[in-house]
Amino acid sequence: METVAPFKEVIEEIKDAGGDALRFCFQCGLCDTVCPWNRVRQFSIRKIIREATFGLTEIDGEDIWRCTTCGRCPQQCPRGVKQIAVGVALRRVAAEYEVFPASVRSARTARASLISEGNPLQGERNKRADWATGLGVKTFTEGMDALYFVGCYLSYDPRMKKVATATANILKRAGVEFGILGAKESCCGESIRKTGSEKVFKSLARENIKTFVDNGVKKIIVSSPHCYHTFKNEYPEFMVNFEVVHISQYLFELINSGRLELTKAYEKKVTYHDPCYLGRHNEIYDQPRDLLKKIPGLEMVEMADSRKESLCCGGGGGRIWMDTPMEERFSDIRLKQAVEVGAAELVTACPYCITNFEESRLNLEYDEVIAIKDITEIIQEVL
Ligand code: SF4
Repeated sequence: METVAPFKEVIEEIKDAGGDALRFCFQCGLCDTVCPWNRVRQFSIRKIIREATFGLTEIDGEDIWRCTTCGRCPQQCPRGVKQIAVGVALRRVAAEYEVFPASVRSARTARASLISEGNPLQGERNKRADWATGLGVKTFTEGMDALYFVGCYLSYDPRMKKVATATANILKRAGVEFGILGAKESCCGESIRKTGSEKVFKSLARENIKTFVDNGVKKIIVSSPHCYHTFKNEYPEFMVNFEVVHISQYLFELINSGRLELTKAYEKKVTYHDPCYLGRHNEIYDQPRDLLKKIPGLEMVEMADSRKESLCCGGGGGRIWMDTPMEERFSDIRLKQAVEVGAAELVTACPYCITNFEESRLNLEYDEVIAIKDITEIIQEVL
């Protein structure tokens, strides 16, 4: 049975999301031409916009959950339509009515874990700093150079813990006085907000903001572009402003100021993947590349669909917690693009991208073909 959300509610949600711009949509379809879904199956954001204009969205279908919020369509739209905000507003209506297709159910598990433990991965809150055991990482105290906000995947996911370790080792080597919050750190909330769970986002954001203020945090170093985005662009909704810096920017600064020296050679051909929330959403394209170019011996090659046109890995918008059939994974296409330019390593700077790429590498049986690296893992090797 199709569930059509009550006209008034859809219209109200969309209006709140800045949906007045909807009426400017003249159905040109440019959004669909750049949408990564159209590389793997039929999907039309134009159609969603059209139906939403009339409050006629079927909220129980898969389609409103497909958008990865990659940011390609707003960049292309000649009429300033806010496709991401509209899509999230529709998900808020579906979440309110508790109508979820099967593929979205694992996102509900992530939500429950966020509410009980402050992370989406069902890790125990009091084990959040276990990755740092034996590394000599301090607890943050006021007056330190910066807080290192580790994030959920780097705290709990076995693959991503290696990135947290690399980051801590590099910061220590550069003599940065930094600390972590351990069990007092909660998920930044960026992705759960994009699944329509506004209340959970607000509660996580308030918890973090209180902890930052109580502990005298001024500068925050992050590993995830999703943490970067929400601290920089969404937490100011709560009347706070912290200095936020992504690790790729910070390492670039450390090298330029002579605090970090790259001494060893890295004789490999690598390509860099722009994470959507670092690149398109925050226009950080150059610093990660400039950082890689400083590594002696490293050869950089560009893939198709790079920088502004970067192909989404498929993990944004809460999709990292939803089920995507094997033949519909954008990350498989990305890995093939990296192999096509002869790269021995696909380098990036986002935990969702790495998680998806590692899974594609396994599924495509590319373990002998290409390696997946976070930018910090390479820097650690050449110190
Ligand atoms: Fe409408 Fe903009 Fe998409 Fe054109 S690109 S169909 S104006 S939303």
